[in-house]
Amino acid sequence: MKLKPSDISTVIIVNKNKEGTHTLQVKTKHISRFKQYIYGVLAVIVTLSGTIIYLRSQNQQQEEEKKQLMAQLSKLKGEVPPPAIQDLKKRGLKGFSTNAVGGNGNAEAAKLTDEETYSLYDEYLSRLVHTVAFTPMGYPRISSLTSYFGYRSDPFNTASAEFHPGIDFKGNRGDEAKCTANGKVVFAGRYGGYGNCVRIAHANNFETLYGHLSRITVKVGEQVTVGEKIGEVGSTGHSTGNHLHYEVRKNGKAINPIKFLTLNN
Ligand SMILES: [Zn+2]
Repeated sequence: MKLKPSDISTVIIVNKNKEGTHTLQVKTKHISRFKQYIYGVLAVIVTLSGTIIYLRSQNQQQEEEKKQLMAQLSKLKGEVPPPAIQDLKKRGLKGFSTNAVGGNGNAEAAKLTDEETYSLYDEYLSRLVHTVAFTPMGYPRISSLTSYFGYRSDPFNTASAEFHPGIDFKGNRGDEAKCTANGKVVFAGRYGGYGNCVRIAHANNFETLYGHLSRITVKVGEQVTVGEKIGEVGSTGHSTGNHLHYEVRKNGKAINPIKFLTLNN
């Protein structure tokens, strides 16, 4: 195709010192479309810049959120109650063993990232929860206490004080009684003044006892888990009304169960 002269425009480029000029022949249609090209390029630049600015601000926001989270984490670390730390120190626990993450000793602990430190905390707490599952803790039933551990007047003999080796929980006949730790049923049946009674052996020579039951739902030798129903509230044995008698024994000796109801006792 032959181009007509009007189809061609000549662009003259003059340099600063006017020492020479260069001519450039361009198709006229390109010149007329130059504006459109510029607008097009501008539009692309604006879009790209906008995208870059948006992504940057997103990134900054994420960085900001990360910083805040990290600040919260370090704040939490600082908020571990000093008595708890004291207690850990008494046990010879001065820090976390880093063997699990391939380090050796506490010198390595300083190099741990917050995430690594927290996964160690998490692991430690999981182990603790596992241990606690085997220790009597919490309520055999959620209700108010009607009688406490210690000496009290005998409801059957007002003249003498009687030692009450456990605590009594309010309840109606048929209410669930639950074991307070994982363990093994060592007794299930009639047991003198306790009436229908269940005794469960736990780790570390702990034992729990549930008395005056109207019904027993476990058998001797059975493994039970914390929170499992072991029987129903009643008034069998030496009892004046429906309630749950609960005992915690350590090495065969009754101790105050109130210490085992909550974590902060
Ligand atoms: Zn009692």
